[in-house]
Amino acid sequence: MTTILIIEDTPANIKLATIILEAAGYTVVPVNNALDGIAQAHTILPDLILMDIQLPDMDGLTATRLLKSDAATCAIPIIAMTAFAMIGDEAKMLAAGCDGYLAKPFCHKEFVATVANGLALAQQHKAGEQS
Ligand code: MN
Repeated sequence: MTTILIIEDTPANIKLATIILEAAGYTVVPVNNALDGIAQAHTILPDLILMDIQLPDMDGLTATRLLKSDAATCAIPIIAMTAFAMIGDEAKMLAAGCDGYLAKPFCHKEFVATVANGLALAQQHKAGEQS
């Protein structure tokens, strides 16, 4: 079972992401704020996190930094979800520790491909640690 934690506060985006991911065979756990997201990341140790950048309680980059600086959660790949206007901030997202990003509104094909890439990245890291 591959579990994906979605940290996103816009109901329409949660709904769409959940439909796409469940259709691709993933188990989805949605939360609508950063603090619940960080708590869930520790509790369920998801295979991947989709992180909205604009959240009500904390911005997604700060939440990403917190997760990436914590030994319990640092290995979980994080894909940022952001509006088209913010794509120029890619360097900021990567600097915060994001492993990739998705532009909103979502393109179905790109969404599934980016999530698959993020999961493959995590598998490579695991294989690297074991060898
Ligand atoms: Mn948001």
